[in-house]
Amino acid sequence: DLLVVGSANADLVIGVERRPAPGETVLGSDLAVHPGGKGANQAVAAARLGARTALLARVGDDAHGRLLLELQRAAGVETRGVRVGGAPTGVALITVDPSGDNSIVVSPGANARLTPEDVRDAAGLFAGARVVSAQLEIPLETVAEVVRARAAGTRFVLNPSPPAPLPADVLAACDPLVVNEHEARFMLGGHAGGYDGKEPEDWARALLALGARSVVVTLGAEGALVAAGGTDTAAVRVPSPRVDAVDTTGAGDAFTAALAWRLARGEDLATAAAFAVRVGAAAVTKEGAQVSFPTAEEVAAL
Ligand code: ADP
Repeated sequence: DLLVVGSANADLVIGVERRPAPGETVLGSDLAVHPGGKGANQAVAAARLGARTALLARVGDDAHGRLLLELQRAAGVETRGVRVGGAPTGVALITVDPSGDNSIVVSPGANARLTPEDVRDAAGLFAGARVVSAQLEIPLETVAEVVRARAAGTRFVLNPSPPAPLPADVLAACDPLVVNEHEARFMLGGHAGGYDGKEPEDWARALLALGARSVVVTLGAEGALVAAGGTDTAAVRVPSPRVDAVDTTGAGDAFTAALAWRLARGEDLATAAAFAVRVGAAAVTKEGAQVSFPTAEEVAAL
């Protein structure tokens, strides 16, 4: 039902008392290796909810790549679209200091080698997908090919993260464009003439005016806001359940995966978002990204 096209990373995390100055060495905690990357996160989140999910991504022919593939399969994701080799698996080198602040170096590695040709080679996966969900941790030209490779009637969902200017044909395909506050401001800041809207409703309206077919703005603990183009462009607020937030890592990925899956099942945008905020809220009640993603039962129990 759902095809996720995007990144897969190994997140390598070390706790430090303080960061090294140039030329200096500091000792840190034991290394923790976590599966990450927005594509891999979304695929696991959807599969854990019970969605029939495939991942189109690229990893290296190395231990990190094998670990990521194994975790995708364990979550129930169809992985025949995961290409192997060409560069090392993408890695995020993360140091965390005692105040909890992260410093991160990302090596895109194999993610940067997921090509438009890889998309064309995956025609079989596209044929079975009612919704294709992408993000921007892979080359933009690959995302543009995803838009073209879709079967007629296959819906395209995009989380533009990390934010970048989008070609008009990609923006026009987004149904919805899913942005958090930071991404919304970036997308609108890049708009000629600037943008001074203060409220999420203003951002949604402006993003529709830029060409997106529909827009979802995620608002953290406040939930989300949805707005569709066409005749009825009124924005609708979708509140999030109140939870004790422990770690918001991956919340946006869980939200977007849940939204895409429910859209694949034929729900309208506001109904799908009402489910997705519950999934995002459940994900923030646990530490970590992929390990924090809820099952359908856990969402129902919230
Ligand atoms: P991102 O992780 O991309 O910055 P948000 O912070 O907007 O995205 O979170 C995405 C979704 O996760 C929200 O729409 C909401 O459903 C849920 N969420 C995030 N933070 C909280 C929170 N503190 N309490 C409840 N739900 C949350």
